[in-house]
Amino acid sequence: MEHVIFVPAIYHVDEISQLASLLSFIDNRIAVKDKKIILYLYSNRQVEDKDINYLKTLPVSQIVIYENDLFSDWEQPYIEAITQHINTIKPHAVISTSSDFIKSILARVAARFSCGFAVDCTDLIFDESTHNYSFLKPAYAGNINAKISVKNSSIVFATLKIKNVAECSFEAVDSKVEIVESLFEDLKPFSGKIKIIEKNLAQNIDNKLESAKIVIGVGRGIKDKENLKYAFELANLLNGAVGVTRPLVDMGWLDKEYQIGQSGKIVSPQIYFAFGVSGAVHHIYGIGNPKLIIAVNKNKDAQIFKIAHYGIVADATSIMKSFIKAFKSRLKGC
Ligand SMILES: Cc1cc2nc3c(=O)[nH]c(=O)nc-3n(C[C@H](O)[C@H](O)[C@H](O)COP(=O)(O)OP(=O)(O)OC[C@H]3O[C@@H](n4cnc5c(N)ncnc54)[C@H](O)[C@@H]3O)c2cc1C
Repeated sequence: MEHVIFVPAIYHVDEISQLASLLSFIDNRIAVKDKKIILYLYSNRQVEDKDINYLKTLPVSQIVIYENDLFSDWEQPYIEAITQHINTIKPHAVISTSSDFIKSILARVAARFSCGFAVDCTDLIFDESTHNYSFLKPAYAGNINAKISVKNSSIVFATLKIKNVAECSFEAVDSKVEIVESLFEDLKPFSGKIKIIEKNLAQNIDNKLESAKIVIGVGRGIKDKENLKYAFELANLLNGAVGVTRPLVDMGWLDKEYQIGQSGKIVSPQIYFAFGVSGAVHHIYGIGNPKLIIAVNKNKDAQIFKIAHYGIVADATSIMKSFIKAFKSRLKGC
């Protein structure tokens, strides 16, 4: 009997590279004969050819792309679509990335099937003989890994937070993949029950944190919200992105979209700058394995210096300004 894993994904939310990591991770962890991994990609615009070609190389049995204007910034259409697709596919497990948006969708879908839902897991353990799933998830402020066993659930629902894209290598498969680009016509989720009165969308953030090769990490050591402008200027000069520690988000300096770490985003830059970042484990969890870490901190004993390749004991904002000046004059000469 086939063992079917259904991976629902959202084109404008999920980075294709993260999706690749997730799929190869699932492929690696679930070693069972007759495994079938099915990816459904929901999109409100045409999926680019380069992304389709990349997806075709991934270790999946089937890819279906659903394009429909309804797949926009609110959950209901996805909930209806994914529910219908689960009823058709009848998967053993539904596993997705850990974006806030998909978590809010899958929580409601899981409830419809009266199943539990394990979120933000960092590892998956699959028992080949029983086909039982369990997951690991940081608990007690990240000090232990809790094991979550899934019992008596007709379908296993989970989201995975994969630490490092580079760790998840896979052998490209040849594209025996069926791509169905179809319009989902019988999507009637609203039927008068829900009326949109007003749409108040968060400011469109174009920071590309997850795919950035250079990340300018900023922590409480920059002291003043005003100083964030230097981080953005530096990111702009280096074609990078800005990421921050949790306190900056908690203080309302920036949106959660910018937060790196255990309860934020997982990034995978080649170069990570840490300006006024203490180096707490919850933050470092999210920075991947950069080839180069350059840290600036006033405290010579700061935790961040234990992992940095270059450390500068100085005021973070002053060094940001000096870097901007130096890179500007360098770039002028190019
Ligand atoms: C369950 C849980 C989940 C969490 N998830 C996350 C997460 O996803 N992401 C995250 O970031 N945190 C997370 N945290 C919080 C985390 O533990 C740390 O508290 C946080 O990362 C610290 O942020 P910080 O380094 O900016 O601030 P601080 O710890 O206050 O450190 C500021 C640093 O700046 C230095 N400094 C001060 N003045 C200057 C100056 N003028 N110039 C240069 N350096 C200076 C200080 O020496 C210090 O090292 C989580 C915590 C818990 C319990």
